[in-house]
Amino acid sequence: MKYLLISFLFFVHCSAQAAWHSRYESTMGTRVGVELWHDDEVQAERIMAEVMEEMTRINQTMSPYIESSELSEVNRQAADNPVAVSLELFALLSKAQRFSVLSEGAFDISFASVGYQYDYRAQQRPDKDALAAGAYRIDYRQVQLDPELQTVKFGRQGMRIDLGGIAKGHAVDLGIAVLQKHGVKHGLVNAGGDTRLLGDRRGRPWVVGVKDPRVEDKQAVLLPLVDEAISTSGDYERYFEEDGVRYHHILNPMTGDSAREVQSVTVLAPDSTTADALSTTVFVLGVERGLALVESMANVEAIIIDNQRKMHYSSDLAPPE
Ligand code: ADP
Ligand code: MG
Repeated sequence: MKYLLISFLFFVHCSAQAAWHSRYESTMGTRVGVELWHDDEVQAERIMAEVMEEMTRINQTMSPYIESSELSEVNRQAADNPVAVSLELFALLSKAQRFSVLSEGAFDISFASVGYQYDYRAQQRPDKDALAAGAYRIDYRQVQLDPELQTVKFGRQGMRIDLGGIAKGHAVDLGIAVLQKHGVKHGLVNAGGDTRLLGDRRGRPWVVGVKDPRVEDKQAVLLPLVDEAISTSGDYERYFEEDGVRYHHILNPMTGDSAREVQSVTVLAPDSTTADALSTTVFVLGVERGLALVESMANVEAIIIDNQRKMHYSSDLAPPE
């Protein structure tokens, strides 16, 4: 009997029990998470810890709120001198620049030249004069990147940059790279409105909801997805209202004021950096120009909920009439 019990315990301990594992934490000013299918719990925990470390590292490099971040250093120095940056930051700045060119300035990380004057929690915003004075500092063409020297220089005094529209997507892509490096076949990484799915949910698709922008805890659509990145930008994440006008965190670089043609944009793309940048971009562009941009790109789809709550789909997603 004793022998039997011991062999039974041995069997339980050794049998690889494949299972779903998940971990959620607060970092990068949002909730980030990782889920994966793995047959070894200890190893799964290690992989998830590595993903979280990667997120923390990226936050330390790219947060505008951390004084010692590389991004803060750029904001302090680049109006005076070219600032040499890491390859990772340089590559992301270059990507951001490409989305600016592609969208004729709708996506512009120098939105922060005015953006820093908003405090959504304290319900503060720049007044007319501050906007008029600040808007000329928003200009991606004045974020001068030198690929030889790997430096950034600002063309105007008072300019600032912020990667809030693209860095979470970048972090999610690097999180997925960690999963892939460890041979994970089914998993996801999520940071706020950005999620990337690796494989399927073991024979079934993942199902990702698009929030109703005006009804708490209600989904406007559910999307079955496999091996795809999805990003939602909404006007309900950080905002305040004043005289019936909503001031939120996605700014039109032409004016420095919040973009108000739509309430939410969801973009599907092969990677999260692209999905993240494009959801912010399409939000600024609005329905017509936004959908035109999406249709011009391969493997990119979008769902827009406009300011009348009407839904618009790119052609490959459109439900049958
Ligand atoms: P979140 O997931 O934080 O809601 P989004 O992808 O919706 O992020 O992007 C919003 C963030 O993008 C803002 O908080 C700000 O940091 C940044 N941003 C705002 N307007 C622009 C713009 N026109 N171009 C690039 N980035 C922007
Ligand atoms: Mg975005």
